[in-house]
Amino acid sequence: MIVFEKTMILAGKDLKLIKDGYVAVENGKIFKVGFGTFKGSAKKRINAKGFLVIPGFINAHVHLGDSAAKELGFGKKLLDLMKPPNGLKHRFLRKTNRKILVSAIRSTLRDMLTNGITTFVDFREEGINGIKILKKALDGLKINSIILGRPKTYMDEKTLQDNLASLPDETLKEALKILDMADGIGLSSPNEYTDKALQQFSKICKNRKHKKLLATHVAESLETKKISQLRTGCSEVYRAVKWLKPDFLIHLTHPSEEDLQEVSKRKIGVVVCPKANSIMGVGFPPIKKFLKEGLVVALGTDNVMVNQPNMFEEMRYLLMYLNVLEKNSSTISLKEIFKMATQNGAKILGLDDVLGIVDEGKNANLVFVDFTMDNLAFSHDILASLILRGRPENVKLVMVEGEIVLDRVGWFKIGR
Ligand SMILES: [Zn+2]
Repeated sequence: MIVFEKTMILAGKDLKLIKDGYVAVENGKIFKVGFGTFKGSAKKRINAKGFLVIPGFINAHVHLGDSAAKELGFGKKLLDLMKPPNGLKHRFLRKTNRKILVSAIRSTLRDMLTNGITTFVDFREEGINGIKILKKALDGLKINSIILGRPKTYMDEKTLQDNLASLPDETLKEALKILDMADGIGLSSPNEYTDKALQQFSKICKNRKHKKLLATHVAESLETKKISQLRTGCSEVYRAVKWLKPDFLIHLTHPSEEDLQEVSKRKIGVVVCPKANSIMGVGFPPIKKFLKEGLVVALGTDNVMVNQPNMFEEMRYLLMYLNVLEKNSSTISLKEIFKMATQNGAKILGLDDVLGIVDEGKNANLVFVDFTMDNLAFSHDILASLILRGRPENVKLVMVEGEIVLDRVGWFKIGR
């Protein structure tokens, strides 16, 4: 049992601020959280005065695969960069040496851990090989990984226009193999497949003995929205919801009112990527509307090639942008934003029984933020300061399932 004492904690799903409390960790789990001192016996007691304990961040949408392509094609349009199979990114991934791809992904994994991200959900391109590359990069690193793969072959324009064909046998086989290796399937867009193909993806995910996740990007830009309407007469969101039946959607930057109602009716989660959307200049998701509709909204950082995976920045940007949009200094609750970066991701993944909250029985994915540092000291509102001023260097200790993965304080003498 290790006990961190005299510390501040954002505890439970309501994020109650404990000003002087303890967190006891045993066998990879949080054994107890409370005020004052821990009465039981402990192997190690650590005085964590001045720190704030928060749950590890959940980056609910990222593409680690393009870590070696930072700012490649900066300023280009979304589809020129990202559209499979011949967007700049996909050409880069095909021609780049495997060792470089692995090494770049590993750098991002380390970067995520050092800024408090203990769980990520990756959309992995390049089929089976892409998953192997990510797994190689993960080798020996302790971080919760959810890998959503996709076949590397795509349907051609004529097939998509006709919208009749099923997935070719080879593609279906590849998709089944991906499900053996990964946690589910993450598609680039419903626009890349026929109605029948989308139904096939749905069927193979739902028919598994162990649950597999299914997700897709959707309505990211006005252009992707238009392609769907012109080709099928239906919106991208409608096609996703009707044929794919995903567990969650990524982006939803430009939903119609009907789209929103469909998503809400089916209780499908949404992962928004506000910074990536802004860098790509595609718009900003109507997050206030999502919340009004009762949707579970999580935060993701999207492609590493365009945006760095830093959840402090993501929360801060979301808050500031909404305030600008609404010309109001209290547009959205700070707790709501913090939940998007932690427990809402867990909910969307169906992992809220173990992840996203500092509470008894949950996995010990903990981040210790040093509130004695110059940029955070003298705060009058801990959560507001965390969101407005938090920086990766304030993260001094990170624990994943009870294992110390970063120690800048020297409590465990393992360094980084
Ligand atoms: Zn994405």
